[in-house]
Amino acid sequence: MAQEMNAAPVCAVVTGGARGIGAAVCEALAARGLNVAVNHSHAASREAAERVAESLRERFGVAAQAIQADVSDFEQASSLVERAAAALGRVHVLVNNAGITRDALFLRMKEADFDRVLDVNLKGAFNCCKAAVPAMCKARAGRIVNMSSISGLHGNVGQVNYAASKAGIVGLTKSLAREVAPRGITVNAVAPGFIKTDMTNAVPEKIREQVLGNIPERRFGEPAEVASLVAFLASDEAAYITGQAIEIDGGLAL
Ligand code: NAP
Repeated sequence: MAQEMNAAPVCAVVTGGARGIGAAVCEALAARGLNVAVNHSHAASREAAERVAESLRERFGVAAQAIQADVSDFEQASSLVERAAAALGRVHVLVNNAGITRDALFLRMKEADFDRVLDVNLKGAFNCCKAAVPAMCKARAGRIVNMSSISGLHGNVGQVNYAASKAGIVGLTKSLAREVAPRGITVNAVAPGFIKTDMTNAVPEKIREQVLGNIPERRFGEPAEVASLVAFLASDEAAYITGQAIEIDGGLAL
């Protein structure tokens, strides 16, 4: 949705927008003319978020702002959406991209690691939806894209916590999609396979090689490829797609 002359401005809120897939999503949405709130989680990532926002302003001529918030905290998530709307215009697009891993085999997985992954990946998306949906309902327009994972659809060794959070995202997506469809809001999930970011750089080389051997396209995905799919789902062209979890994995989960 490009901004039209004299129309009230609208923006996209991208959680975890300072790096990886989130930064690529910010770019893809700005390229389509949306103002963008680049969320980051803590003071140490402020500089990276500011850099992304500055590059969006320079390259695409949109308004963009870095906004700090830990999405697992209900109040901070509410304030993120409020601040974005005040500075950048009505929140038309919400991309719940923020996510973490705390991998371990089940027998060794700590309760705290289960809780934290669920809090950020699943509760974080709930918190941001709670903040953004009322105004979308009022405007009778909105696009929500939630970041799931093929781990959430198919399971993965060492990721009981992460896979549960990403499967939860699919349930949240489908249920919310049913509720808000009559209000002109679509809710979809994207389920990437193995994409080149800090998250997958942390995976040991031996496992990376094993995964690569199982990808029919014989390559890892680029953040920009996931971002193109997110931007499409956030666009007017995708108005008749809702409640879907779309895999983007080079064939890994076939
Ligand atoms: P990444 O490079 O590790 O980036 C994670 C992002 O999440 C960072 O921007 C980080 O913000 C943000 N974040 C973490 N905790 C947060 C919190 N409490 N509040 C707000 N933001 C928080 O990961 P990525 O690979 O780009 O992953 C992005 C999303 O895609 C995640 O949901 C991930 O689960 C999903 N995904 C990734 C892959 C993959 O292969 N890479 C595959 C499937 C799904 P800071 O910069 O402030 O730390």
